[in-house]
Amino acid sequence: MKTGVYAGSFDPITFGHIDIITRAEKLFDEVVLLVAENKKKKALFSLNERKEMLEELFKEKKHIKVEVLNGLLAEFMREKGFHFVIRGLRAISDFEFEFQHSIMNKELNPEIETVFLMTDRKYFYLSSGMVKEIVELKGNAKEFVPKLVEQKLKEKLGK
Ligand code: ADP
Repeated sequence: MKTGVYAGSFDPITFGHIDIITRAEKLFDEVVLLVAENKKKKALFSLNERKEMLEELFKEKKHIKVEVLNGLLAEFMREKGFHFVIRGLRAISDFEFEFQHSIMNKELNPEIETVFLMTDRKYFYLSSGMVKEIVELKGNAKEFVPKLVEQKLKEKLGK
C-alpha cells in the first residue's frame, strides 16, 4: 500500500490545499494529512483545532487520515515506515523554501522522496495567510475555503 504524507500547517486549510489532496488521492492508496507547527508563522488555530477541521472535512473518506506532527518530519516518516512526502507548489516563490526542505529531509532520512504537485491556476496565489487577512477585513472568503472553515475563521476573527 502506497501512503503519501501531506505535511503542512493548514492554518487553516484552503481550496489550494484541497486541490493538492485531490491530486494526491489519485496517486496514493492512502493520504495522511500531517498537521505541523511552523516556527516561522504565528498560528491562528491550535494544532488540535486544525486537526479537528481536517477530520470533519474528510470524515467520509476512509483513505484520508489526519495526524499531528510532534518533532521532525524525517523521524515521523522513519517511525511509520512511510516514504513519500507531498508538497504543493504555487508561484515561483515556493521553490526556494520547498527545495531547501526537501533536500534537508533527504539528508536526515534518505528513504524520503518528496513529491511536488502543482496546484490549479485558480489557486496559484492563494495562501492561508491571505484568507485570514480577507476575513479579518470583513471580506468574503467563500471562494477560497470550505464553509466550515469560513465559519471557524469568522468565530476567531469576527469582532
Ligand atoms: P507550511 O507552513 O508547511 O508551508 P502550509 O499549510 O502553508 O504549510 O502549506 C503546506 C503545503 O501546501 C506547502 O507545500 C504549500 O506550498 C502548499 N500550499 C499551500 N497553499 C497552496 C495552494 N494554494 N496551492 C498549492 N499548494 C499550496
